[in-house]
Amino acid sequence: MVREFETYQSAQTISLRHLLENIQEQLPALADMLQMTAPPLQNNESLLAEAQQLLFQQTLQLKARLDTHQVELASLRQRQDELEERSRTDVLTGLANRSWLEEQMHKRFVLCQQQSRIMSVVFIDLDHFKKLNDQYGHQMGDNVLQKFGKTLQSLVRDGDLAGRWGGEEFLVVLPDEDAQSAQIFAKRIAQRLEKTPMAHDDQEPIHVSVSIGIACLDDGGFGSADELIDAADKSMYFIKHTGRGGIAVYGDRGATVTPIND
Ligand code: GH3
Ligand code: MG
Ligand code: MG
Repeated sequence: MVREFETYQSAQTISLRHLLENIQEQLPALADMLQMTAPPLQNNESLLAEAQQLLFQQTLQLKARLDTHQVELASLRQRQDELEERSRTDVLTGLANRSWLEEQMHKRFVLCQQQSRIMSVVFIDLDHFKKLNDQYGHQMGDNVLQKFGKTLQSLVRDGDLAGRWGGEEFLVVLPDEDAQSAQIFAKRIAQRLEKTPMAHDDQEPIHVSVSIGIACLDDGGFGSADELIDAADKSMYFIKHTGRGGIAVYGDRGATVTPIND
């Protein structure tokens, strides 16, 4: 270490070894002057070795403390990530929950305005869900919601956001997608539900249908994310009033119905 120290310092700097030797030599005179008792002279090599040993131990202790802190920090970060994840997840379906959907919708809306981009919103409501609960029980209803959540998640692409708006209502945000692409996506949901039962009762398949409303940002001079969601919701209700199990797209002159199977 002394050598390192010496190398680190410039050539004019006095040698540390020299300094140690001189100090030791001058200690008795200095102690005499100050009327103190000088400590017995010690061999420079052993002094240095002792100092090195101490320094080494200190370094080890510091390293161990640093390691402990790093482990603690990593576990705190992981815990924070888990809590954040939980705060934005719907417990039953594992999809995004309503508050996360709203936050993302507002952010996305501002982004679209700033960058002249578009997005579509797909509002999905399970048909006659109350009847399903009444007929098969609340637990079966929960199973259906879970299975539908998984089905929906399997149909969205990276970058899309599917969530549970509440009860038996779901919402999907499709960034950069126009109403036509959103319709294709909505058809895929409806067709999947026709093919795949969402539960079984005594081996009997239980199928559900959905009413879907779509609104696209470039179709209606929307002033906020809430207005866009509202338009998708209105289109969904249009389907409810015309018999359920269908898709409607919001437009300037009201909602237009899209056939599912063509
Ligand atoms: P519509 O076709 O008009 O949408 O009829 P619907 O019965 O689906 O709609 P309604 O709004 O009348 O009823 C929704 C039902 O969804 C009532 C409520 O008990 C049920 N529901 C809401 N949340 C849950 C849930 O977490 N689990 C279960 N099992 N049922 C739920
Ligand atoms: Mg509903
Ligand atoms: Mg419903």
